[in-house]
Amino acid sequence: MPRPTLATLDDPLPVARWMRRTLDAGHVPFTLAIPSSAVRLATAATAAGIDIAGARCLLGGEPITRARLDQTARAGLDALPRYGTSECGPVGYGCLQPSAPDDVHVVRDLHAVIQARSLGAELSMPSGALFVTSLHHAAPFLMLNFSMGDQATLDPRDCGCPLRGLGWMDHLRDIRSFEKLTAAGVTFIDTDLVRVLEAVLPARFGGGPTDYQLVESEAPDGSARLRLLVHPRLGPLDDQEVLSTFLDELAGDRPIDGIMAAMLDQGGTLSVERQPPRTTRSGKVMHLHAEAG
Ligand SMILES: [Zn+2]
Repeated sequence: MPRPTLATLDDPLPVARWMRRTLDAGHVPFTLAIPSSAVRLATAATAAGIDIAGARCLLGGEPITRARLDQTARAGLDALPRYGTSECGPVGYGCLQPSAPDDVHVVRDLHAVIQARSLGAELSMPSGALFVTSLHHAAPFLMLNFSMGDQATLDPRDCGCPLRGLGWMDHLRDIRSFEKLTAAGVTFIDTDLVRVLEAVLPARFGGGPTDYQLVESEAPDGSARLRLLVHPRLGPLDDQEVLSTFLDELAGDRPIDGIMAAMLDQGGTLSVERQPPRTTRSGKVMHLHAEAG
């Protein structure tokens, strides 16, 4: 095995150079990436004059939007979505004649996927909420109508692409978390985030649970931005201290949480802003609020 090479969010060029070398050797470089990282890679490669046209990647782990796909396409990076989780494995692979940026074929030899539909109100879930059931005898976990907190449009469209010919007839698109806990490629554990926003930060810097909120938005170039809003009524605070307390607390004791916190810390993805937290139309202050780009 080759030794791993460090490529940070601030400097993804080692990946671009590897792609170029692989292309020069007559092969097709293939990567798995979260969309905002692929955008960073594409942007950095273009800026550095490294031609990565012809490289391919599979995107997953956060919403796949038109802006993000356009940005990767401009660098010639051929990107397709993959939808799945670490518990389930792949649930869908990107359609080659997509009707939306995140149009995937459900791999229905592995999973059955149904929606809440009219039961949504009773379950306090949107009607498009997805439930996954494992069908494969070697599934890592046996899921029975398992909700991953995602909703989507389920569509048996005849796209005409080869994946349909394999028997994967159903499409999912407009896939979003209705629990709003994934931002900038980082999936927060609900209870951790709530604890930090509602207890740790108020105890240290004052105010109450609704004075702190994470807001996710998308920059025009498709990159993810995450802002930690702190209510101005709390008076003067050291932004850097708020930020490092937030990251340290999220990092906790588990290595995987440390990696997540490090990802947020890199590349200026996360910043502190003194603004009142956003409220939804129904007046709720969500812990993680998604804003249109
Ligand atoms: Zn298709």
